[in-house]
Amino acid sequence: MKKNFKYLFILILLIIAVLAWNEAFGLGEDKLKFYMLDIEQGDAIFIETPSGNQILVDGGPDRRILEELGKIMPFYDRSIDLIILTHPHLDHAGGLLEVLKNYNVGEFMDVGDSYNLAEYGELKKLIEDKKIKYETVHRGLKIYLDREVSLLVLTPEKLIKSDNPHDNNVVSRLSYGKIDFLLMGDAEKGEELRLVQEGDNLESEVLKVGHHGSKTSSNPLFLEKVKPEYALISVSAKNRYGHPAQITLDNLLAAGAKIFRTDIDSIIEFKTDGNSLTLVGGK
Ligand SMILES: [Zn+2]
Repeated sequence: MKKNFKYLFILILLIIAVLAWNEAFGLGEDKLKFYMLDIEQGDAIFIETPSGNQILVDGGPDRRILEELGKIMPFYDRSIDLIILTHPHLDHAGGLLEVLKNYNVGEFMDVGDSYNLAEYGELKKLIEDKKIKYETVHRGLKIYLDREVSLLVLTPEKLIKSDNPHDNNVVSRLSYGKIDFLLMGDAEKGEELRLVQEGDNLESEVLKVGHHGSKTSSNPLFLEKVKPEYALISVSAKNRYGHPAQITLDNLLAAGAKIFRTDIDSIIEFKTDGNSLTLVGGK
């Protein structure tokens, strides 16, 4: 009996040591990690909060998302806490099907747009079958991703009837301390100018440029309010849309932004402690 107590005591000491080690070297890092993944033509952003919550905003067009997640997540980590779909176009939604099939997903959010994309129907069915929590988002919703990390939804105000899913696209601002990331999805000029008119605080160190750098987005009036230090463009080399447009690149440079593109820089990674922002670089 005495011997058992001795082992129990040693076990408790070991547990305390492991917890202390984690606090000192692991959980104590207090860094938010932000990745613009290289999924060719499309969008996929992966965020890991200081306490390890993982969020995926869009999933690119296809299975390439699994390869990209494999580069930044440990092999034993098979869960993602939250997925946000900005709008149901294949180049943002297609890869999420693969993610839902291969990872345990805690919650799924989108605007509930019933745009007629077959893969979106499949997504909704998987969400139902796997009993994943589902919520629609709208302007003003503030999602706490961690104690000090929030994602504020800026658009859409309410769902409008339109043949163009970009009219109901989710724009959100990720904030940790003094550092902000503006995630535009495929927002176009109309949405940008509405945000300017609303008088929202758009100032952000990092701008995920709307609609793959197309000339429909990144209006100078809007960029004046964002004042981005970094502009990120997700695009494949030699895409058939001619993205990014030269006029957009010129506008971003004129606004003082340093431009990073997935077709040139591959994965683009940032780390921040809420005070300063570090560009880790491509992989
Ligand atoms: Zn789109």
